[in-house]
Amino acid sequence: MTHTLPALRYAFDALEPHIDAMTMQIHHDRHHQAYVDNLNKALSGTPGADKTLEELFSDMGSYPAAVRNNGGGHYNHSLFWEILSNNGSHPSAALASAIDHAFGSLDALKEKMSTAGATRFGSGWSWLIVKDGHLDVCSTANQDNPLMSTAEVKGTPILGIDVWEHAYYLKYQNKRPDYLKAIWNVINWDEVSKRYSANVK
Ligand code: MN
Repeated sequence: MTHTLPALRYAFDALEPHIDAMTMQIHHDRHHQAYVDNLNKALSGTPGADKTLEELFSDMGSYPAAVRNNGGGHYNHSLFWEILSNNGSHPSAALASAIDHAFGSLDALKEKMSTAGATRFGSGWSWLIVKDGHLDVCSTANQDNPLMSTAEVKGTPILGIDVWEHAYYLKYQNKRPDYLKAIWNVINWDEVSKRYSANVK
């Protein structure tokens, strides 16, 4: 299968002022496109070529670093665009109750994910995952994610925050914590709630 760049469902400037249009355009059109192109190149003519991303992740140790890095990059960014919005949404009743149960409050979850992102050395992601029916927070390095068989903490990501410098450098420069504070204004909780419900039985 050939992997393709998904279109953004909103304009580049839709998340202003929290995430600026230039960052969104470069992030989507160049960074994500490069992960897609390099993934297709890395898989071309190999047994992984007809596998889905989830199939590749479930046996990650069998594939070269280029597949792990670019496959992760493609999956992670595809999720990231979906869970961002200016729709001013809130967690569903079911998700809100699971968040309270797992973390005490929505603010406590935000704090925990922001800390996980701020303390991730170098580049990586902060995640809200469903694991055995429960919510948990973790972070990964580079373009790894919790679906990978190689991940330290495994689960299904329902919200991911990109903490690579390319996600915030134009507006926030070196101030990753400021970006991590601002991004909570543009979370698409409708989408996160949908993913939560799809992953708890
Ligand atoms: Mn990124």
